[in-house]
Amino acid sequence: AAGPIGHTVIPIVNKLQDIFAQLGSSSTIDLPQVAVVGSQSSGKSSVLEALVGRDFLPRGSDICTRRPLVLQLVHRPRRTDAAEGGEEWGEFLHLNGQKFFDFSEIRREIQAETEREAGGNKGVSDKQIRLKIFSPNVLNITLVDLPGITKVPVGDQPSDIEARIRTMILSYIKHKTCIILAVSPANADLANSDALQMARIADPDGSRTIGVITKLDIMDRGTDARNFLLGNVIPLRLGYVGIVNRSQQDINLNRSIKDALAFEENFFRKQPAYHGLSHCCGVPQLAKKLNQILVQHIKNVLPGLKSRINAQLAGMGVKLLNILTKYCEAFSSVVEGKNEELSTDELSGGARIHYIFQSIFV
Ligand code: GDP
Ligand code: MG
Repeated sequence: AAGPIGHTVIPIVNKLQDIFAQLGSSSTIDLPQVAVVGSQSSGKSSVLEALVGRDFLPRGSDICTRRPLVLQLVHRPRRTDAAEGGEEWGEFLHLNGQKFFDFSEIRREIQAETEREAGGNKGVSDKQIRLKIFSPNVLNITLVDLPGITKVPVGDQPSDIEARIRTMILSYIKHKTCIILAVSPANADLANSDALQMARIADPDGSRTIGVITKLDIMDRGTDARNFLLGNVIPLRLGYVGIVNRSQQDINLNRSIKDALAFEENFFRKQPAYHGLSHCCGVPQLAKKLNQILVQHIKNVLPGLKSRINAQLAGMGVKLLNILTKYCEAFSSVVEGKNEELSTDELSGGARIHYIFQSIFV
């Protein structure tokens, strides 16, 4: 099944990538990395999983993410002859290409590989685990799951654990192309948020930080996150999205992502405090916000692509760029929800454009 991150932006980006692949490998759209930051157990891994739409990350109330996980999503066109379940798989860099079709085995291997490097007693290491997920339902983007900020050393952690983790996180989010998902739990004071504090250091004007407020379902009775979400407590340029992910009990009971999304939707429908805030509530809205940023990014890099394409194919570039620009504009109006009907048209339009390119270049 496609993760929510895919529904809108995947068709266009993948068509573009297919087209660029035909032009030679130097012309591809380099999509920005997306990294999650926040304190331990704020729900970072849960947010990433919900975005990808598959269960495969270690999550829990203890320290689970103890090494950076660089998760590269790789789009593979659907094969008609592929066996059931054989279209999506994972490969770890440290296991040279061994294919994992069972996503719970991917989780076990992340845990095993974490222990190999960081030991069995809560140790943390900055050595990456690199995992590629191949699927027809993803777009080529890199997501980074990071250890959370902790203050008091436990187990094998050194006395300067907090400083070490902060340095590790900064080394990822300092890059101007990194989109920061700053994850803060709703049951703690936002003014104490490690996530927002780190994000502000790396991105002072807030141009690439999305605030994510998790655990709306377990706030103190009589309180709600409405003012957080509206930016009345700590303003954030790109705004906030409120999320309800699976609780530890849901994880223990193996509750599916699909059930969790339905639960979340129902939660927001039932709570009067969140009425009128549908634009900033729920995993699908977070995916939509990310999509908008990606579309903007694609628009920004198109002129650069134009010159590269021009160099490669004198004369053909302008025509190509014009079609791409049109395609992106139509597409972003779909993403921004101005024209819902376009979405199916765009898909067939995409196929048609692809066909045009094939007839030009093949
Ligand atoms: P991380 O340490 O930031 O990666 O956090 P995890 O994703 O591992 O989640 C930590 C714990 O919080 C797990 O037990 C999750 O089940 C739980 N959790 C995460 N998000 C939510 C949420 O929105 N609601 C509830 N009730 N629990 C959550
Ligand atoms: Mg985690």
